[in-house]
Amino acid sequence: MTASTIVGGPDLVQERRLTTEIPGPRSREILARKHAEVAHSVGHTLPIIVAAAGGGTVVDVDGNSFIDLGSGIAVTGVGNANPRVVKAVVDQVQRFTHTAFTVAPYEGYIEVARKLNAITPGNFTKRTALFNSGAEAVENAVKIARNATGRQAVVAFDHAFHGRTNLTMALTAKNAPYKQGFGPFVPELYRVPASYPYRDGGLSGPEAARRSIEKIENQLGAKSVAAIIIEPIQGEGGFIVPAPGFLPALREWTARNGIVFIADEIQSGFARTGAWFAIDHERVIPDLVTMAKAIAGGLPLSAVTGRAELMDAPQVGGIGGTYGGNPVACAAALAALESYEEDGLIERACHIGEVLKSRLESLRASDPRIGEVRGRGAMIAIELVDRQTNEPDAELTARVLKYAHNNGVILLACGTYGNVIRFLPPLTICDPLLEEGISIVAEGLSQS
Ligand SMILES: *Cc1c(COP(=O)(O)O)cnc(C)c1O
Repeated sequence: MTASTIVGGPDLVQERRLTTEIPGPRSREILARKHAEVAHSVGHTLPIIVAAAGGGTVVDVDGNSFIDLGSGIAVTGVGNANPRVVKAVVDQVQRFTHTAFTVAPYEGYIEVARKLNAITPGNFTKRTALFNSGAEAVENAVKIARNATGRQAVVAFDHAFHGRTNLTMALTAKNAPYKQGFGPFVPELYRVPASYPYRDGGLSGPEAARRSIEKIENQLGAKSVAAIIIEPIQGEGGFIVPAPGFLPALREWTARNGIVFIADEIQSGFARTGAWFAIDHERVIPDLVTMAKAIAGGLPLSAVTGRAELMDAPQVGGIGGTYGGNPVACAAALAALESYEEDGLIERACHIGEVLKSRLESLRASDPRIGEVRGRGAMIAIELVDRQTNEPDAELTARVLKYAHNNGVILLACGTYGNVIRFLPPLTICDPLLEEGISIVAEGLSQS
């Protein structure tokens, strides 16, 4: 079997298989070409070149088969080369690939909008606009909120990640690597503390919300704030689940002050947490929701969905883009949404969460370097710390990651301090592979 004959999707043999050292000779040779041709600022986590992927595995050009605990950063929730997505994409590609929705519209876009209006929280009239990337959705949510409110200030939180474009990197909290050397930044963006139960010294959700709100009121006054934007579970920042009551208290305050509440569900959305959206767990109804990553089975698509009166506020032509809501990406999204529903993937996310949490909690019981196990559904993380001081241990995290990569597991870190290991398997991973993946991480921990 040569790399070019391997077909991905769920029929791919579901096993961890190492046929060479990592990276193998073919990956090594192609990575040398990457080094010569691709901008060095575009990094990679694993030194492999992918040939195929599906179910819970990724196969490289040397025939090594990795257990996928990353799903391309929470993108392939429905699995790589999901058969429903493949069929929808092929059908659409054969009919037409692009007309520009803002030139000559097509039905797929409208159907995606209808679905998103239906599954996002809130029983009010909603509208949706589609874009290409998560950052683009965030940019547009901010544009819509500013236009609709006539206000300019936007508040983001500590540990936030909202993207890499000029506006969104300014909303992003972490300097290196996201902001370093890329200024000047957009004005009228402000940052306040969030809720980080493990490092908050016991602040309750309502107390943490009061701290955030006081800071906003002191710094700029509620009446100048167009929007707050928050990830209901912070992703790149470290899979931080806010203390219960934090999001509802913020929601209540924003509603009272005419401030648009934007939930950034780009990483946490689409069944990942065992609900359509992470914010559903808190029963909070945002005004606008930004979505991307797991929306379309790996094709680039993003969305802003929200209250019709906000979404309809900007002038015609003010919102759009050449590729936004590309017909192939829309076909993929409709198929992916069908897969989440018909293939029981929301329930699957809950099950994966139970397996991960119970295995990781029992590891934590015997290894105090695991400071906390947290997350919801199939969005689970461990925070690694010094056993005496609870200080973040980024070096240990890097060693565990390296062990996993060398032993056939795709594993990602996150966290402001680089000391969080996140588990983001495709929801199509089978139990034995998931269990084996966790065991490799446990081995990596015990040997680090
Ligand atoms: C990934 C991510 C983004 C940015 O999405 P891109 O598609 O990379 O632009 C924004 N917000 C959150 C919460 C994310 O996880």
